[in-house]
Amino acid sequence: MQICPICNGIELIHLACPHCGALMEEHGKVSDYYAPYSPYREISHVQTLEGSDPIHLLYCNHYYHCPHCQHFLTYSAKQFASPFAPMV
Ligand SMILES: [Zn+2]
Ligand SMILES: [Zn+2]
Repeated sequence: MQICPICNGIELIHLACPHCGALMEEHGKVSDYYAPYSPYREISHVQTLEGSDPIHLLYCNHYYHCPHCQHFLTYSAKQFASPFAPMV
């Protein structure tokens, strides 16, 4: 199991806006915007994990918003293996 440091509040990522240099605010996971409240969310999640792109296993994408110039960007937080994951 992979853990995202931002989702779990372990690490605060402070990004400077590339346009104006202001401190950007974290606005949640990208996946939360694309698949909100869907009853099939768990199924699509599994399909993503089984897809051909392994980067989804390593990175958790978060939206960042600049309150000064309204610039949006996505930040890929590198996830790490949970120390609580069961040994297989
Ligand atoms: Zn995350
Ligand atoms: Zn800005």
